[in-house]
Amino acid sequence: SLEQGSEGPETPIQVVLRVRPMSAAELRRGEQSALHCSGTRTLQSAHLPQGARPSLSCTVFTFGQTGSGKTYTLTGPPPQGEGVPVPPSLAGIIQRTFAWLLDRVQHLGAPVTLRASYLEIYNEQVRDLLSLGSLRPLPVRWNKTRGFYVEQLRVVEFGSLEALMELLQMGLSRRKSSAHTLNQTSSRSHVLLTLYISHQTPQQMPPVDPGEPPVGGKLCFVDLAGSEKVTATGSRGELMLEANSINRSLLALGHCISLLLDPQRKQSHIPFRDSKLTKLLADSLGGNGVTLMVACVSPSAHCLPETLSTLRYASRAQ
Ligand code: ADP
Ligand code: MG
Repeated sequence: SLEQGSEGPETPIQVVLRVRPMSAAELRRGEQSALHCSGTRTLQSAHLPQGARPSLSCTVFTFGQTGSGKTYTLTGPPPQGEGVPVPPSLAGIIQRTFAWLLDRVQHLGAPVTLRASYLEIYNEQVRDLLSLGSLRPLPVRWNKTRGFYVEQLRVVEFGSLEALMELLQMGLSRRKSSAHTLNQTSSRSHVLLTLYISHQTPQQMPPVDPGEPPVGGKLCFVDLAGSEKVTATGSRGELMLEANSINRSLLALGHCISLLLDPQRKQSHIPFRDSKLTKLLADSLGGNGVTLMVACVSPSAHCLPETLSTLRYASRAQ
């Protein structure tokens, strides 16, 4: 069982578990469901700050093995066809957040500019999924005012949910996936979507340095790479290197989070520099923001070893 963590807005990191339904393929193979959920609870904008304050900073992670529902949780099911909207009850966290955001913005009545960046970390290399040119790796730099940042990362303005979803689609089609034996569309990279909210109109903005979005609200959605063990997927060579750098980032992230949550070690040094992922999340995790971690698992008995390892990771972060 996953123990209930301490509740309340003062908890910087919330952990929730999402069990997806048995898939058609799992049922066809005659696999049994091994998880029993006592009741269904729905998370309603847990502890999101009221009102779009300038310092609004939220980070949502999904983690778990490939096929456990990480991408689905963030973006909902793919559209059934051109012009067929996904019913709101199935929408992902990104769509729901956007609806919430628009509502706040309308309440404010002030002009707000929304911008997005979208990147993946693959084999400890950062690629800009919105770049107009090639996907060459971009360096991660650090300076006093900005902390860690990706040099020359493209930041794109968008005005509607449709425009944002188009950006996501464009980015997703460029995402590094490899057909290893567990799942044809297995995700071997960590993907970070960041939305920047600023109270300025575009004309008022200082000259745009694409790497430096205006300070304001920042929402970060992180679709982590599949956490499965290398051995389960029969990986060799290049894939082994992939699995190692994926695990390195995940381990570094788990380590940083458990240090951040340990009251005894509040003042201690947090090793954000240990991986690209933790560098880029340093200000989100280490700042005053709210972080939600969604552990995603399959109910199938075949997935139990990976499910247990996901739960272990989740309870470590509590
Ligand atoms: P991951 O990103 O962890 O690899 P996906 O999000 O791609 O996994 O989900 C794997 C499959 O399961 C997809 O076909 C997806 O549509 C389906 N799925 C995942 N979560 C749910 C859910 N909560 N309800 C229904 N189908 C789901
Ligand atoms: Mg995925």
